[in-house]
This record gives sequence, structure tokens and C-alpha cells, in this order.
Amino acid sequence: MVKTLCILGATGSIGVQALDVARLRGYKITALTANGRIDILENQIREFSPAYAAVANEEKARELKIKVADTSVKVLSGKEGVKECAAMGADAVLNGIVGIAGLEPTLAAIDAGSTLALANKESLVTGGKLVTDRAAAKGVAILPVDSEHSAVFQSLQGCRDKKQVKKLILTASGGPFFGKKKDELKDITPEQALAHPNWSMGAKITIDSATMMNKGLEIIEAAWLFDMAPEKIDVLVHRQSIVHSLVEYEDNSVIAQLGVPDMRIPIQYALTYPDRFESPAAELDLAACASLTFEKPDNDTFRCMDYCRQALSKGGLYPAAVNAANEKANLLFRQGKIGFTDIQESVGRALEMNLPTGEYTLEDVLETDRAVREER
Ligand code: NDP
Ligand code: MG
Repeated sequence: MVKTLCILGATGSIGVQALDVARLRGYKITALTANGRIDILENQIREFSPAYAAVANEEKARELKIKVADTSVKVLSGKEGVKECAAMGADAVLNGIVGIAGLEPTLAAIDAGSTLALANKESLVTGGKLVTDRAAAKGVAILPVDSEHSAVFQSLQGCRDKKQVKKLILTASGGPFFGKKKDELKDITPEQALAHPNWSMGAKITIDSATMMNKGLEIIEAAWLFDMAPEKIDVLVHRQSIVHSLVEYEDNSVIAQLGVPDMRIPIQYALTYPDRFESPAAELDLAACASLTFEKPDNDTFRCMDYCRQALSKGGLYPAAVNAANEKANLLFRQGKIGFTDIQESVGRALEMNLPTGEYTLEDVLETDRAVREER
């Protein structure tokens, strides 16, 4: 039973919603972290009185220290400060950091023996083997926060033998450009790509949804979380985002989890598992949904998902390479420096690199990430 909770990436979309759940459930917040949005963090410190806070950006950390000098919070700074918060040993650590910056804090939380509620999919994408091996060695549970993975996890409850699972079916909203062809995508602006039809999320994942890279990352995430071969993970476009994912069993039964598109449902389940409680999210009114539709994704137009599958099949450092290429290109696109379709071209190019496909260390992953970013 979670009583104490550390939230990494507290000022982001996931972090703020995790604090909604914490408020409702009455969790004691031990530590909160951010990168630079210290005004939001200051308010959170005043409301939740954590013993520690960390800000990755050193200058912003100094500013925060002054702002909260009248409180009892101890402000840590830099990457190390964030890791220190992760390593403090709360009942659960919720990782809502965006990007590979979440990998080392994930490992630190596992080393401390805290249950890991994981939203930071990039931890598993870049360091899947490191993270899952270490969690197994420490006996630490990784509970998925990503809505699709929470849905799969929920649909697997009661399954005694994974061999009876025929496949996982991840659903995808398709993003704002589903149905468009490649030549219609060339002039897409960041503003258009940031307008997601169903979910309100951070900027990076919203662009990942528009390129379908998000679903590619989620295939890799699912492979590690559920120890599933890539060919047993399917994707269906489901425009309404009501069915969050499905599991098909040997007997052709398909079990799914449904709910309104509100991340507080999977966040809360990750923190209260195996129990369920009232939710801050709304009830699902299926009659009001009118229709639920399912279609095949268009992998010729949106290439990122296939590139992620290829990276997963190649193994080793390839998933870290496609992730780095995407993180860099995603940012350059948001800054208006490259076009929308350049993102997938950049991800595809990472597969052409010559990288080891066997065992790897944390340093190998970080070095691959650096090398790919520098090249672009
Ligand atoms: P946001 O951009 O909204 O928030 C990211 C958080 O991480 C912020 O607190 C930010 O701090 C912090 N952060 C950013 N860079 C660093 C860094 N270098 N070091 C330490 N902290 C940093 O992202 P989201 O909440 O949307 O997403 C978080 C993660 O959850 C991602 O991995 C995403 O894929 C996953 N996810 C998100 C969903 C959603 O609905 N948002 C759904 C499913 C998964 P600051 O605010 O100060 O910049
Ligand atoms: Mg998701």
C-alpha cells in the first residue's frame, strides 16, 4: 500500500495529474522534481510540503532556493539532485520525466527498492534490458502508467500463463493527421501538430503522437514490460481513445480496458494496484460514445512505427539510437528548424548506423544517445 510518494517530473502533464491523485488519496509527498518550471514547482512545494525538491537546471534551482527559503524544503540541483530524489526510498516513485533524462532516475528508484510507477517510456526504450534486469534482481515492481500499457496490464490480470496470450493489441488515436498522405504532411506546422484530438499532454509526446513515433516507442515499451516478442504486438488505430488496449488469448477471447481518455485512471491504478478506488476522472458513458471504430495504421505514410519495430528486432543499442534521433528531431521541429516529415527520415537514418546488438551498459546507452544527437 503506497503511503509515501516521490514524483519525478512533477511540473509536467503527468506530474500534475499524479498530484491530483495524491491529493485525493492523501499520499505523503517525499520529493518533487522539475527541469525549469519553478513557478509551478514552488506552488506544489507550498501545497504538498515535500522534504526535498530538485531542479535539473542549476540556475533555476538557485532561483527556486530563494523563492522557497521560508519553507522547510531542501532544494537539490542538477541531474544528480534529481537522481538523489529518486533514490530516497519512498513507497513508490512515479517517473513523469520526459525523454532519456528519465533513465538514470528510473534505475536509481529501482536500486532504492521503491515500486516504480513508470510514465517515462524512454527509460524502457533506451535501457529496457538494464531496467528490467535490475528490477528483477531487486524484486521491484514496474507498474505502467502509459494508458495502453496500463490497459494491457489490467487485461492480463488473471492470466496464469503468458503462453496463453496470442497477442497484445495497442490502440493508437492516429493523431491529428491520420488519413493524410505523405505529400500533405510536408507543410505541417508545430502549431498544427501540437493540437491533439483526444489527449492533453506535454509537447514532446504530442508531436510523437502526430508522427506515430509514440506508438513505435510503445511497442518497444510493451515488449520489455510484458516480455513479449515484437511480432506478438499489434497496433490498431482507434480514433476515439476509449478502448485503451486489448489482449487476445489462445481461445480467441479478447479482453480490453475502457475508460474516458484521462491519465489519472492509469496513474491511480499504478499507485493503488491491485486495489481500485474512486477516481478523479469522469465515468465512461458508452451510450454517448455513439461508435467505436478500429482501423489498420498507415505505415507507408507514417514510417516511425516500423522503424521502432526494426530497432527492437535488431536489439542492442538500436532502440536507444532511434530514440535519440527522434528526441533531437522532435525538438528541432518544434523550434521550426526542420519539417514534419524530416522527423521520420531522421529516425530511419539511425537504423543505418553500425551499432552493437548484444548486451550493453548504461554508459553505452548514454554514449549512443550523445553520438546520435551530435551527428544531427
Ligand atoms: P511534460 O513535458 O509535460 O513534462 C515533463 C516533465 O519532465 C516536467 O516536469 C519537466 O520539467 C521534466 N523534465 C524535462 N526535462 C528534464 C530533464 N532533463 N531532467 C529532469 N526533468 C526534466 O511531459 P509529459 O508529462 O507529457 O510526459 C512525461 C512522460 O510520460 C513522457 O515520457 C511521456 O512519453 C509519458 N507519457 C505522457 C502522457 C501524457 O498524457 N502526458 C501519456 C503517456 C505517457 P519542467 O516542467 O520544469 O520543464
Ligand atoms: Mg500511451
